[in-house]
Order: sequence, then C-alpha cells, then structure tokens
Amino acid sequence: MKNYSRREFIMHLGAGAGMLMLPRFPRWEKTPASRPGKKLGIALVGLGNYSTYELAPALMETQNCELAGIVTGTPEKGVKWQERYKVSDKNIYNYSNFDAIANNDAIDIVYVVLPNSMHHEYTIRAAKAGKHVICEKPMAVSVKECHEMIDACRKSGVRLFIGYRLHFDPFHRAAMKFRTLEGGRLQSVDSAFAFHIGDPTQWRLKKSLAGGGSVMDLGIYCIQASRYCTGAEPVSVTAVEEKTDMVKFAEVEETMRMQLEFPGGPTATALCSYNREANYLRLTSEKDRFELEPAFTYGGISGWTNAGKLYFPHINQQAAQMDGFSRCITDGLPSDADGEEGLRDMRVIEAVYRSAATGRSAALRGD
Ligand code: NDP
Repeated sequence: MKNYSRREFIMHLGAGAGMLMLPRFPRWEKTPASRPGKKLGIALVGLGNYSTYELAPALMETQNCELAGIVTGTPEKGVKWQERYKVSDKNIYNYSNFDAIANNDAIDIVYVVLPNSMHHEYTIRAAKAGKHVICEKPMAVSVKECHEMIDACRKSGVRLFIGYRLHFDPFHRAAMKFRTLEGGRLQSVDSAFAFHIGDPTQWRLKKSLAGGGSVMDLGIYCIQASRYCTGAEPVSVTAVEEKTDMVKFAEVEETMRMQLEFPGGPTATALCSYNREANYLRLTSEKDRFELEPAFTYGGISGWTNAGKLYFPHINQQAAQMDGFSRCITDGLPSDADGEEGLRDMRVIEAVYRSAATGRSAALRGD
C-alpha cells in the first residue's frame, strides 16, 4: 500500500463535487433584464427543520444561488422568514397557489423539503411550472414514482437533483475513490446509521407520509455508501427486520439489517435503526482500511486509513450541494446525484422490503 501523504489525500481523494465535468445538457441562460445578478434563485418548499436550520443558513453562504422564495402551509412561518431573509411578498407561496410559481422569473429552482410521500407530487408540479428541481432524499416512496418524476422533468426540459449532500463532502469523495487506490481489491463495506427517534406523533412514523421507517430515512445513506464505495449496483439483497416497540413502530420499520451482494465484488452490510445509536462507514481492501466515524453527520466527520488520520478543509455540505447543482444547471454539466441515482437507491429499498417480507434474498429488478 502506498503511504500517501495527507496532502495527496486532499488533492486526489477529496476532490470533485458531485458533478462530472463534460457539459451534456443545455446551458441555462437567465434573462439579464429581469435578473441582473448571477445567482440562481431557489424556492424552499416546506419550512421544517432541515429548511430552517440547514438549508436557509447555507443559502447565506452560497456563491451560485440564493434564497429567492418560500412555499409553506404555515402563514406564521412565512412572516418570520420574510423578516429574517427579506423574501419579497410576491415570492411567498402556499401549497394551493404553488403552481403560479411558473410565472415567477426570480425562481429558477424549486427545492422540495417535504415529508417523503409528498416529493412525487411537488417535483412533478415544479417541473410542470418549468422549474429545475432539487428533491430531498428519499427521492420518493416507490420506483414507480421515481420514474414518473424523471419523466416529468425530462418532458419539461428541467433538471432533477436529489439532496445527496454527502456527494459534496470530501470524506465521502475520498471513500468513493478508496477502491481505486493501491491497497488491492475492495473486500468489505460495512455501515450503520441509527438514532433514537423522538416525538411518537411525527410524520416519520406514519407510513402514509414517510413511505417506510428507518430504511427510507437512514438506511438510504448506507445503501448510497455501499453503492458509491463499490462503484457497482447490487444484484441481490437480504434484509431482516427487528422490532422491539410495537406501539411506536406500529406503521413503519424500527431496525433493519441488510446485506447487499455485488457482482464478483465485496458484500456490503448495513444497519439502520430508529432505536439505537450508530454512525459509521468502514471499508477494507486487501492491504488497507478506510473508516469514517461519525460518517453521515452534517459536519465533524472523522476518518482514518492505515496511513493515519484524514484531514480535509471544513465545508458546508448543503451550500456545496446547492452551489454544485446550480453550476450543473448554468454550465450544462451532468451530476452523479441526479434523479437516476435516486431511482437506483429506490430499487434497492424496494428489494430490502421484499426480502424482509419473505425472509429470502431478493434479486434487484431492472424496473
Ligand atoms: P420536518 O417535519 O421538520 O418538516 C417538514 C415540513 O413539511 C413541515 O414543517 C411543513 O412545513 C411541511 N409539511 C407539509 N405537509 C406536511 C404534513 N402533512 N406533515 C408534516 N409536515 C408537512 O421534516 P424535515 O425538514 O426533517 O424533513 C423534510 C425532508 O427532508 C424529508 O424528506 C427528509 O428525509 C429530508 N431531510 C434530508 C436531510 C439530509 O441530510 N439530506 C436531513 C433532514 C431531512 P410548512 O409548515 O412550511 O408547510
């Protein structure tokens, strides 16, 4: 194994930012008369925790985009956000008048930050309004919905991205490249993401809004990591569900243990749960290891290889993500965090549920 230096890690492993570099899409020209600035305007849809505490503050740091509008079903939030972020009256929408956003030149991108089962409807409505879309993870609650969202964006000629913030994090960019280093064949990918979920009345515990439980919310990070660390698609999945609290988790899964088989490659194991604490990603190759713990947090990720601790400059994942997607739009660049990527994860998630229900390994479908 080459004893690479920290500088080499920074230069070669953490580089890249969720986009591939050859233009493949039409460049997005804004109308100079109505939009003198160079930033793309983003409207956040759903002003919950992620919008309030992560995305809106991140939009104060972005270079290529800015907070231009909000969509909320809670008028009091609209008032507070208007005071804090100086959003103009004409750029505030609710879920009923949302479609009128089509006539608003200040908004280029609609960012869907709603409960999972609402992603499908609002992505399609945004696409029909002619807006580019960033949709939070999980992209939707079924493979069928993912296809419909991709089709709607394609028909309207707009781009679709998924809120996979870790594609923009240097530790995860490094994890993606680990298999290409001189440490030999990648042998294993083990990951876990779990926390104790609070409020028993929240939408994450309701199947109609969440689509599922810890797999949809947390396991998706492990599935993503297994796929981007191997650079391959799993051929089959074996999953076992564990439930200790039948009341709180009456509608959705509490804990899932998953095993993903890759063609000719390593087996990945993954654990997700709403009823324990875990947060790591561990890779081994024939001669090296690569470990992140915590692995899936917004900041404070720590990493090691056999060569020692990894150091990368701090970045704001959400700002990097929104700037990266904006650049994909303006420069016509493809992204490795697009709708197709969201669809691939949903195929795995559906296989996880099939396996857990039948007690047998489930083959990945090509649907
Ligand atoms: P919250 O519950 O904090 O916020 C959801 C918001 O959606 C609400 O505040 C509300 O906003 C709106 N909403 C509309 N209809 C409903 C409804 N029927 N029930 C509940 N809320 C409703 O959720 P989060 O912000 O934590 O999560 C939102 C999405 O973002 C999820 O898909 C989640 O997976 C994703 N997420 C992604 C993260 C990441 O790291 N990429 C991190 C956290 C979440 P309003 O009052 O304005 O209408």
